[in-house]
Amino acid sequence: MSVTRDIELPPVIAAPDYPLPGSVRTPDYAPGERSALIEEIRTLLREKDAVLVAHYYTDEDLQMIADETGGAVADSLEMARFGSKHPASTLVVAGVRFMGETAKILNPEKRVLMPTLEAECSLDLGCPPEKFIPFCDAHPDRTVVVYANTSAAVKARADWVVTSSIALKVAEHLRNEGKKILWAPDRYLGDYIMRMTGVDMVIWQGSCVVHEEFKMDELNRLKDGHPEAAVLVHPESPPGVIALADRVGSTSQIIQAACEMDNDLFIVATEDGIFHKMKEAAPGKTFIAAPTAGEGATCKSCAHCPWMKMNDLRGLERVLEGGANEVFIDEVIRRRAEVSLKRMVDFAREHIKPGMHVSGNA
Ligand code: SF4
Repeated sequence: MSVTRDIELPPVIAAPDYPLPGSVRTPDYAPGERSALIEEIRTLLREKDAVLVAHYYTDEDLQMIADETGGAVADSLEMARFGSKHPASTLVVAGVRFMGETAKILNPEKRVLMPTLEAECSLDLGCPPEKFIPFCDAHPDRTVVVYANTSAAVKARADWVVTSSIALKVAEHLRNEGKKILWAPDRYLGDYIMRMTGVDMVIWQGSCVVHEEFKMDELNRLKDGHPEAAVLVHPESPPGVIALADRVGSTSQIIQAACEMDNDLFIVATEDGIFHKMKEAAPGKTFIAAPTAGEGATCKSCAHCPWMKMNDLRGLERVLEGGANEVFIDEVIRRRAEVSLKRMVDFAREHIKPGMHVSGNA
């Protein structure tokens, strides 16, 4: 496998300041406020012809409301699919900004609202279009494949958009067509795809502030203490952590693995919001968060995405009530981004069934 690096790779671009995890970790509701908000949100979803689509990493209350009201709790790919096929005129996307943008790109005729427009993603922030577009222009011989965790403008420059649940399949497909890939922005997922498929790639050097904190040595020690546990790892994690996994996969694939595998105990290396669905999907099984503390740890995240947790009941109620936080995208950019996104959705329809497992290290 050859890895071409024609020009110097861009440095990792530091994410701007964001709320500390402690400031958004547990919503601080007054007595009776939480149940009143939940009731009001249920009513407003009905009255406003709206449906709630929540990511697995959001607060448990939002996931519960989405499930109970006919919405969806899903990974990025399923969120995109669900929003397109649901008849509601308003999609309320609980997640981070690129997820709301994706919903709008695929559903321009619908109103797309978000509980907050401030929820960013370090991968998106670390891949600004004004730097990414010249990087692509310097590699005209490569097919540009970007992760869903990017802005609409970056998607508009790409040939393909992929999520972690479909990335390997698309890379295999392109490799079989003799294509070379320019990948952005997650360097660990890019490295994983390159190792698993052998495809020729240049890789943008972005990272997720949550997954890159998982520590190999500490995970090894935890495994030693629990030899009966299976290790489930999201491929945005560092290679040493991925190497210790029994299964590597997207959030949906990790949940599916917990249901399928015979183990009763799992060590899980992804954002801790996923435990809500894992416990629901595999009752009776036990889940331990993979360690983020140890040598070199900064623990800005501690398996906890501070942006995802900015989605709360108050914000959800407010946007449903007043229609604030609507997502708008420049139409020229939207049309271009729609091409690369639809390529993924069409490919997924043929090659990936919902919840299908893609890779395993075991
Ligand atoms: S968990 Fe990582 S990849 Fe997901 S939204 Fe947060 S910063 Fe982005």
